[in-house]
Amino acid sequence: ATAKNVAVLGATGSIGQSALEVIAASSGRLRAFSVSGHTRLDLLSQAARDHGSRTVIATNRELADAHRWSGLPGGIRRLTGPEGLEAAVADPAVDVVLAAIVGAAGLQSTLAALEAGKVVALANKETLVMAGPIIQDVLQQKGGSLIPVDSEHSAVFQAMQGAKAKEVRRVVLTASGGPFRTWPVSQLSQITVSEALIHPTWQMGPKITVDSATMMNKALEIIEARWLFNLSAEQIEVVIHPQSIVHSFVEFVDGSVLAQMSPPDMKLPIQYALEYPDRLPGPAERIDWSERMTLEFEPPDPERFPAIALGHQCARTGGTSGAVLNAANEAAVQAFLDGDLHFTEIVPACRSVLESHNFEPRPSLSRLIELDAWARQEMNTWMLA
Ligand code: NDP
Ligand code: MG
Repeated sequence: ATAKNVAVLGATGSIGQSALEVIAASSGRLRAFSVSGHTRLDLLSQAARDHGSRTVIATNRELADAHRWSGLPGGIRRLTGPEGLEAAVADPAVDVVLAAIVGAAGLQSTLAALEAGKVVALANKETLVMAGPIIQDVLQQKGGSLIPVDSEHSAVFQAMQGAKAKEVRRVVLTASGGPFRTWPVSQLSQITVSEALIHPTWQMGPKITVDSATMMNKALEIIEARWLFNLSAEQIEVVIHPQSIVHSFVEFVDGSVLAQMSPPDMKLPIQYALEYPDRLPGPAERIDWSERMTLEFEPPDPERFPAIALGHQCARTGGTSGAVLNAANEAAVQAFLDGDLHFTEIVPACRSVLESHNFEPRPSLSRLIELDAWARQEMNTWMLA
């Protein structure tokens, strides 16, 4: 069989680098046909070299122009900017697009891949949070497909294989609870950037690590699940599971509950999405059944984790709310990382921006992009007030 050609968008990031490990371990079944990076261009060149990629996309034009592109494979196609991404994903030679750019910056290229009717392995949850209904329409019209990479959604997707939609009562997304699960609530306002960047079970990029600490990550995942699986907000629950071994549950109408389990290692959901529908041996870590293991589950405390209610609210209202919440959160996380916002201000600031926006039930893509910019501005205004 010939290799599946993968376009790895965000190849220099945490998911991107894990994906390259999965590809390297696939015995030639998968190939990193194209790789993209934004600022880490040496790492990008190295990826292209190691994997014999045919296309390399440097999305930050200024850095790309200033970079000395030495040692790239001969005959490689070099593209720049967001347009470069759009050209790369539409390449007829590409079989699967791994969408692993962080934040709203990943929306357009994911959409372009689906417009081209591609299979998209989706790590960039922000795409569905911002534009769930638009993505659903494009999927219907262009015949592409979306396979989740986010571990919870991969778990749900795996547990749902072969099930009919009407057989599913609800899904239960697990959450580690992050580093501050057991801290006294009164101390949360003192949290520093370095404390928030240490996650107890997962190794991830900085934005999603902060999102996990505030549980905004789970809020985004509730909205992601709403659009990915076409569920109502009421069908999506969250349970705290500190060990991060069960990645989520699906509860069926007869009361049976299926879980997907594996150590916290993104290589498994990445591989499952790239190889779908096949299961093959791979480099992901395995559960060690020779050791005693305890799994705990507890309901989240709404006072400690106010983000979850916000996620349910946006999953219920849909329309413009996901895009506003997402942009407000991206701006708030950046402000926290820059030392301009307290940890405990992130969620209230996002709620405030969400409440002050002019809700529309059926926004166009251009409207969502405008609102994304508006919400970032509004977050600045909130911080000055
Ligand atoms: P990282 O910060 O580690 O990587 C982000 C990637 O996006 C890098 O390749 C970066 O390039 C690129 N990038 C950043 N800004 C832009 C931009 N404006 N235009 C184009 N490319 C850009 O993030 P993660 O890998 O942790 O996360 C990626 C996505 O996957 C996120 O949406 C996250 O929510 C999701 N996800 C991640 C998980 C994880 O375990 N890490 C788990 C589940 C979901 P460069 O580094 O060269 O600047
Ligand atoms: Mg997740």
